[in-house]
Amino acid sequence: MTNDHTNGISRINERLKRGDAVVMTAQEFKSHVRSGHKFQVGDVDVVTTATHGIMSGTAASFSIPVAPPGSFERAAAAWINGVPAQPGPAPNERLGSVDLMVYGTTANGDTAPPYGGGHLFRDLVERQECTIEVLSTCGKRLKRRFTLDDLGFARIYSMRNAFKSYMAFGNFRSTTALKSIFSVWPMTATSGLTVIGSGEMNPIQNDPNLNAIGIGSLAMINNAPGVVIGSGTLAYSNRPNLSLAADMFDMDPYFMGGVCTSEGVEVLNAVSIPIPIVDDAALQSVIGALDENLVLPVADVSDRQPFDEMTYGNVWQGPDHDLTFDPSKLDTEGKDIARAAAICPVNAVDVQAKEIDRTRCIRCGACTVEIDSDAFSMNMGTVDIGGKEHPITFRTSDRFRAMELAESLKSKILSGDVPIREKLLDITCRQPSPLAD
Ligand code: SF4
Repeated sequence: MTNDHTNGISRINERLKRGDAVVMTAQEFKSHVRSGHKFQVGDVDVVTTATHGIMSGTAASFSIPVAPPGSFERAAAAWINGVPAQPGPAPNERLGSVDLMVYGTTANGDTAPPYGGGHLFRDLVERQECTIEVLSTCGKRLKRRFTLDDLGFARIYSMRNAFKSYMAFGNFRSTTALKSIFSVWPMTATSGLTVIGSGEMNPIQNDPNLNAIGIGSLAMINNAPGVVIGSGTLAYSNRPNLSLAADMFDMDPYFMGGVCTSEGVEVLNAVSIPIPIVDDAALQSVIGALDENLVLPVADVSDRQPFDEMTYGNVWQGPDHDLTFDPSKLDTEGKDIARAAAICPVNAVDVQAKEIDRTRCIRCGACTVEIDSDAFSMNMGTVDIGGKEHPITFRTSDRFRAMELAESLKSKILSGDVPIREKLLDITCRQPSPLAD
C-alpha cells in the first residue's frame, strides 16, 4: 500500500466521522456517469458494490454439541437435515461434539423437492430447528435437534465468489440435451442462453486490478461482516474471483438459499464490498465499469471454453431487472401456476395463494419462458452470436438483490456500522501448471 492510499483512507474516515463523506451505490454512481457528470477525485469517497447469485464454491463449517462428553469416541459420518457433512478436521475425541464441513452443493439424496447445503444454510440462518445425526466410529447412532443459536461456531467459507466476467452458456454444438448447474432445463440447441454475473454492480468489475480489494478487506457476505481471505479457485489475473469467510449468526436469509438446477442443487450467496475512491486510478476504474463496456465471454456448455463474447449491456441495459406477476391473467384451471411452481428453482411460487414469494424469487426468468402466459413477464433480451439471435432464458444472478445489497452497505457505512479500511496484503492469482497432452 502506498502512503497516498493510506492517507486517502484516513481522509475518507475523517469525512465519515464529520458526516460530510459522499457515499454512493454503484448504481447511483453509474447513473450520474451515464447522464454526463464528470467526476473528479474528491467528489465521491466510497462506491458500494455488490453481487448476488448462484456461487457454487460455498461451504459452511460448524461445531455442534451432540451428546454429553464421553458418550462416543469420534464421528465417522454425520448428516444435518439429511445433508451429508464431513466430520473434522479436529477429531474432538470423546468431547461429545463434532466439527463439520457442509458443501452448499451437496444434496440430501434423491428427495423431492431436492434439498441441499444451500437450503440448509438458509434454514439455519432463519433459526429453523434442524436435526444432526452422527454415526460414531464404534457404530453408535446419535441424534439431536438444534438451532443456529445453540452453536458457538458457524461460518461460511467461500472458495470462488464474485467472479469478474464469468460466462454466458448455450448448447451450440451437441444434438443431445445437456444437464447443467447453469440451467433449470437440460440445455438444447433451442433453449437459449444462460447468463451469470451482476455486471457493473460486481465488486471486482469496479476494481479490476484489485488495487482496493485484497487480503483482509472487508466483505459483507449475505449482509453480515466478513473478510477477503485471498483469491478463489480458478482465479486468473485477468478474471479474478475471491475467497471469503464470515460468521453466519448475523447473515440475512433473504440473500441465501438453495437452487434446484437440471444438474442438482446449488447455493445462493451475496457479496458486497466498499470501494474507497482514494485516487484517480480508483475513480477511473469505477467510471469505466459500465455494463456496456464489460465483456461477458460466451462458451458452449459442453466444454465451457469461450469462443465468442457479448457484454453485460446485453444482460442488464434494456432488459427488465424484475419479474412482473399478474395473477388476474392466470388460466382458471390453475395449470399455469402449477407449471410455474414445478419449474421454479427456489420454490417461490405458491400455487394455492396464487402468489410469488418475493423473499425467495431470484428473478431467474424460468417461469416467463416455461409458461406462455402474460401472468409472468420479464424481458431478458436477446444476443447475436455468430449472426444468429439467441434469447437469454435464464439468469443465475439477481441484479435487483445486488442493488439492494449496495444500498444496505451504503447505509451501514454512513451510520458507522462498517469501517472503511485498507487491505492487509495484495491478492495473487497463481496459475496451475499446464497439463501435458
Ligand atoms: S423468476 Fe419465476 S421461476 Fe425464477 S425464481 Fe422467480 S418465480 Fe421462480
